[in-house]
Amino acid sequence: MSAGGFHGGLKLPGRKEAAARPIRRCPPPAVLRVALRQHPGEAALPLVAAGQSVREGQLLARAVGPFGADLHAPCHAEVLSIDESGDGLLCLRPTAEDGDAIRLPLLDPDTAAADAIRARIAAAGVVGLGGAAFPTADKLAIAREAVILNGAECEPLIACDNRLLQERAEAVIRGGELLRRACGAGSLRIAIEEDMPAAREALLAAKADAPAFELDVLPARYPQGGERQLIEAVLGIEVPRGGLPRDIGIGVFNVGTAEAVWRAVAEGRPLTRRLVSVAGGGVVEPVVVEALIGTPVAELIGAAGGYREDAARLILGGPLTGRALADDDHGLRKGDNAIVVLSTAEIPETRTSMPCIRCGACATVCPARLQPQLLWQFGLAGQDSRLSDHGLFDCIECAACDLVCPSHIALTAGFREHKLRLRGEALERAAADAARERFEQRQARLEREAAERAEQEAEQQRRLLARDAVRAALERARARGKGPP
Ligand code: SF4
Ligand code: SF4
Repeated sequence: MSAGGFHGGLKLPGRKEAAARPIRRCPPPAVLRVALRQHPGEAALPLVAAGQSVREGQLLARAVGPFGADLHAPCHAEVLSIDESGDGLLCLRPTAEDGDAIRLPLLDPDTAAADAIRARIAAAGVVGLGGAAFPTADKLAIAREAVILNGAECEPLIACDNRLLQERAEAVIRGGELLRRACGAGSLRIAIEEDMPAAREALLAAKADAPAFELDVLPARYPQGGERQLIEAVLGIEVPRGGLPRDIGIGVFNVGTAEAVWRAVAEGRPLTRRLVSVAGGGVVEPVVVEALIGTPVAELIGAAGGYREDAARLILGGPLTGRALADDDHGLRKGDNAIVVLSTAEIPETRTSMPCIRCGACATVCPARLQPQLLWQFGLAGQDSRLSDHGLFDCIECAACDLVCPSHIALTAGFREHKLRLRGEALERAAADAARERFEQRQARLEREAAERAEQEAEQQRRLLARDAVRAALERARARGKGPP
């Protein structure tokens, strides 16, 4: 075991009440709302039609292009509707379980080759369950030296990884071993925080019968669960700015992803359900819920006892990194790890922001080693190139800088806006460049065709002139009586 550290960060109150209760199963809702785009790539292509009956585990939609993932039916159901606009939405009405679920062919987890494990993970539609939902098979395509399972659930209120480890530690370890073999890594480590004693005990208890791994128990610190921060805390290695963990041979996978990999390989189960923390002062009984993908947020909150009277704000994700939801219709996606309901008393007071006093507190806590106050100034001055040069795109939007700023400046929201704007402008430039290239290619083609036509006409003209010249010569010869009869 080790106790490392990473640059910056904060000690925050964990508020992990949900970790103390057993995982609660949410029954299938009246209607499942399954998004066709649950991953960074394009929306998956539906393979079913409205009115069709589907069986649990049946392939509903096929991955399209890079970073896409297959989608499977979470239960026996009837397809109610398919909307392919935006992120796309399949609505399913669960039906009685009359017939077997569809499973992928069994694969021996002890002997399966690396490429067979990767193919199985792709076929089961497994993506990263820590939030990013990046397709796991794509991440495994690059060889690694070490795999770290990320159980360092550092954001307040989120507790699904903690509870998963307490109840299903062996499946997580075995899934981690499959991930290690699938990318050819030499070692497997599992990282948790020191305020997860029950998870630690469960991992140690499972260790005797499970594949070898090293357990890292880290001091609880936010945002330790970020990939770069975790690597720094566990291995003492800094991922270079602008680089990725794979550049230094490290693969970081969420512990929930490891469990999903184990189920996909050993049980042939596609990813059709996940654990989600339902927490905050606005729910009756904070708890980790196991629910089918597509379950509306309203049902998840119902599984946690419902809303309290003073429920005031609904957040998808953690209280610091999540986004506000306007209603509770949202269907659970593979990457959704938390639903937070804040009570009136928990909503941060709106404070008027003041000018920066250059105290440097934001830079001290920034885990990405940025100078947030400088980025803020560059943003105000419209100095876009300096924003990029000073690492705007390395900002992980953890909001640690906001928490310590005595001037109450909404730094993270500003950085998020600048990133969106600059990415949008880059996309527009790329689209304009592509359009200009297409225009120039078309012009060149039209000019080439016009030149070819002119050349053909000139050739035709030359032939006509030559023919006329021959005829004239013949006429002259005939006139002189010397020509052919
Ligand atoms: S939000 Fe960005 S700038 Fe602020 S502390 Fe986190 S990584 Fe640093
Ligand atoms: S913490 Fe706030 S006031 Fe202090 S330097 Fe950073 S932005 Fe300025």
